[in-house]
This record gives sequence, structure tokens and C-alpha cells, in this order.
Amino acid sequence: MYFSFFERLIISLRNLGNHRPLLKPFVIIVTPLLRFCDYIRKKLTHNTKKIGLLLAAGIVFLFLFGQFLFGENIEGLEKVNAYDYGRGVKDFEAGFLSVSPYESDENYKFKADEFGFRADSDQDNQYSIIKEDTPKDAEEVLAANTKKQLAEQVKEESELANLSADDWRLILVNKQHPIPEGYEFELGTIYKGMKCDARIIDDLSRMIDDAADKGVSIIVCSPYRNDSRQNALFDNKIMDYREEGLTYMESYALASTAVTVPGSSEHQIGLALDLISNNYSSLNAGFAQTQTGIWLEEHSWEYGFTLRYPKGKEYITGIEFEPWHFRYVGVAAAKYMKENGICLEELIDQL
Ligand SMILES: [Zn+2]
Repeated sequence: MYFSFFERLIISLRNLGNHRPLLKPFVIIVTPLLRFCDYIRKKLTHNTKKIGLLLAAGIVFLFLFGQFLFGENIEGLEKVNAYDYGRGVKDFEAGFLSVSPYESDENYKFKADEFGFRADSDQDNQYSIIKEDTPKDAEEVLAANTKKQLAEQVKEESELANLSADDWRLILVNKQHPIPEGYEFELGTIYKGMKCDARIIDDLSRMIDDAADKGVSIIVCSPYRNDSRQNALFDNKIMDYREEGLTYMESYALASTAVTVPGSSEHQIGLALDLISNNYSSLNAGFAQTQTGIWLEEHSWEYGFTLRYPKGKEYITGIEFEPWHFRYVGVAAAKYMKENGICLEELIDQL
């Protein structure tokens, strides 16, 4: 009769128990275990195909999901094996927990500190890098950020500090601020009868030339106006409204939003210019969409000009959107206004 390995073991143990009564309890405990092993063995030998398939499925399963089963699942943390220094740094930045079993442990530890992680050494001498709720160097990070902000603020302030409300280029002229009595300046000629403050002609010419190089046409249509010209323009506008049947007061109010009240026009101090192009000569909002209008909006600051009555600032300037009216303020002020989206009234307020 054939006995299996386990059956022979059971028989031997039984004999042993019979000869040495002291070992009987051991035999009683071990025998059922051996019987169970023998039972498994029988199953295995009778169902090899099934078992093989099961084993194969198990291996595939472990291969696919082993990472989840055997990785340390610590809530809120991910564990990755970082095999090289660069990889580890990236993990820290991404907020991962990293374990580095290799020689650059010290580097990881060092980097961990830098990124606000805590490095713990466990029995296997691996470092668990754990992101702390409050990074060790949070205060330092905060201080660095504050420093950066301060530096930016100082820079901004210094840009402002370079500007002065007393600068001739920043003279504020509007309905509330008429041209100061006795205001004097030298007139220069742009071309033909066109004049403006002599001090701005160089920048103006450079702007027109540079634009021309880019294929953008800029034509000065209305530069300096003397008092009588401004008066005439204003009176004409009032007449237009009067003819439409409005009262003088109504006409005056409307005219003052379209044509600057005499004595408060920047055209009268030679620092403002109405600009058009060779294929768009109307002074209306449509100019903003033309090639020239777009170029001026983008680049005029580089030559010290600012779009004086921008869209959205009507409540401050008291003048409707005039994409053609440019005012010379100097490059520093024009740059600051452009960057901060403010108009001249707002800039003067800050000085
Ligand atoms: Zn104008």
C-alpha cells in the first residue's frame, strides 16, 4: 500500500507517542495539522490545472496591485521610492512622502529640511520624509515673501518717488484745475503751422518715425490751440446743441464733455495732441480699433505719451473716451500709468 509523505510522518509520530508517553500531547496536536496538509496535497494532485490557473491569477493580481497592498498606507501621505536625487527633490516639491534607501540619504534629509519636511529614521535606516502641517521654516518663507513684497513696493515707490507733481510734464489741467495764470512755455513747430510745447517735439517725432517704420501711420491733426481757437471750438459746440433745441445750460454741460472748457484744455498748454491716421481721420471711438489706435495704445508710453481720457475713467476725467487724444507726461509717468491702469488725475493723487 502506498503512503504519502504526510501519512508516513503521522504513522512515525504515532509510534513515537506510543513509545514515549511524554510526547503524546505533541503528537495529538500535530497530527491534525499533518492530516490537513495531506488533504491539501491530495487536492493539489487531483486539480493541478485549476490550481495552476489560480496561482497565475494570483501572481497577476499581486503584480498589478502589490504596490497598494504592501506600501505603507499612511493617511494623507504617498510613499514612493526615490532612486535618484533629482527624483527625490521633485517628490518633495510635489509634497510627497519619500523613502530613499540609497546612498544619498543625507542629501534627501537636507533637501527635506529645505522643503519643510521632517526626516525620520526608522529601523531599516530609511528616511521617511513627512510633510509637517506647519513647515519648520514657515516663518522664514513668510519673511522671504514679505521681503520680496517690500522690495517690490520700494521699487514701485521709488518709481513714484522719481515723479513730482511740480514737474512741468505732469501739470494737471482739467475743469477743476484750469491753466494757472501766467503759465508760460516755448512753442515749437511740428510741421507747417502745427505747434506744440517745444520740449516734446523730439519724443513726438521719434514716435511718429518709429511707427512709420512698423508701417503705422500717425498724423497730428490737432496740436496746440490758442485761447481764441479753443473758445471758438467750444462756442460752436454749444451752438450745435442749441440748434437741437437745448437750453444754454444744457448745451454748455454737454459741450463741456465733448470739447474742453476754454482755459482748461491741455491743447492750450501745448502738451496734448489729437492723432489720426492716413486712413482714419474721424475723431471717434472707432479710432481705438484702427491699426494706429491699437499701436498708440500699446506703445505711446515708450515716448512719454499717455491716452489721456481712457475708457472707464470718464467719472474721474469728466471727459468721454477719446482714443485719439494723447498727452505728454514723460516716459516714467506714462509707464507707471500704463502699468497701473491709472489716469493722470489718479497719478497726481498719489504724488
Ligand atoms: Zn484733444
